[in-house]
Amino acid sequence: MEESTKMLIEQAERDLLHTYNRYQVVLDRGEGVYLYDIEGKKYLDFVAGIAVFALGYANQAYNDALKRQIDKLLHTSNYYYNVPAIQAAHKLKEVTGMDRVFFTNSGAEAVEGAIKSAMKVHSGKGTGGRSEIIAMEHSFHGRTIGALSVTGNAHYREDFETIDRQVRFAKFNDAESVRALVTENTCAVILEVVQGEGGLIPATTEFLKEVRSLCDEKGILLIFDEIQCGMGRTGSMFAFQNHGVKPDIMTCAKALGCGVPVGAFLMTEETAAKSLVPGDHGTTYGGNPFAAAAVCEVLRQYEERDIPGHVKEIAPYFEKKLDEIAAAHPCILQRRGCGLMQGLVFDRPVAPVIRAAMDRGLILINAGADILRFVPPLIIEKEHIDEMAEILEQAIRETEEA
Ligand SMILES: *Cc1c(COP(=O)(O)O)cnc(C)c1O
Repeated sequence: MEESTKMLIEQAERDLLHTYNRYQVVLDRGEGVYLYDIEGKKYLDFVAGIAVFALGYANQAYNDALKRQIDKLLHTSNYYYNVPAIQAAHKLKEVTGMDRVFFTNSGAEAVEGAIKSAMKVHSGKGTGGRSEIIAMEHSFHGRTIGALSVTGNAHYREDFETIDRQVRFAKFNDAESVRALVTENTCAVILEVVQGEGGLIPATTEFLKEVRSLCDEKGILLIFDEIQCGMGRTGSMFAFQNHGVKPDIMTCAKALGCGVPVGAFLMTEETAAKSLVPGDHGTTYGGNPFAAAAVCEVLRQYEERDIPGHVKEIAPYFEKKLDEIAAAHPCILQRRGCGLMQGLVFDRPVAPVIRAAMDRGLILINAGADILRFVPPLIIEKEHIDEMAEILEQAIRETEEA
């Protein structure tokens, strides 16, 4: 490691709150599916800022769209209309099939809004008031207090559980366990269509259909968190579209802005008619002209380049390569996931593999201690998958020998 890198890391560790154990690298710029650190070392990126940079780095059309918007108008309050937000909302409705959009600054903020929307529907007027939420074990919905409260993984929730949120956790892909938790007081069910942080676990169609009909039967709102699995990652624009099951409320973020911080929650007209009204919810930055311009350009490129189609085409090759690696190494127990959202389950912590891959110029990340997670840019081609597989093989072999 060069002296300048060392000094920057030391300074960061003095100044930043220590909430991350960061890898010992200072990233500087990107180009397509590659990143470069300040020493000029090149990395193949199979993380994409955790499922964010779907369209690749140094995407000229995207950068130009942002620059044009910067020169025009960065921010107005949500008390006024602006053209990019109007266009972004319209496009997002089209690709989700939902009817109403609220833009946020992050995924967690979208989850907060989704929970509030459901709470509002069942706030008491006409329906008697309901306050319980059913979430899933191993789920992840964000780090703010509200989003944390529906996060199933206790590791994230411990130490912050002083507020009684009336959240119950059901078994993912087990509709009977959801049904068993339903009471007169159940307001909403929230779930990820493919669990991300929880270990790359896709919901089954059967499970989603049963939960949908359970919710219909009991007047419970169904919330799908598509923050990680949405935006083309599974080969459909949104993962729920693979199953023919529609939520009442959904969340979106991560790849929605491809680097500009923006999220959204959306709902059906029927839900909106009973939910938030002026004064109930707001955000200063959410969907400002800059963020909305990013959403417009991202969705334009998704359509022009048929990103979901590309994912559908390339994913089987990706799965085949990962299956080959899994078969060659007894320390890998399983491959699972969907599209370009994949995980290799190890019988041991994967941190050494990630470090060894990084040394060799491949960026990977974990999901839990024992799962290697792959959420690459959605524009990867076979050659990048081959390159990844080769480096990963070496990294696994090296850690097996150690
Ligand atoms: C990342 C993520 C979130 C939280 O998004 P932030 O932008 O980090 O707040 C919520 N839900 C899921 C499924 C996620 O993957």
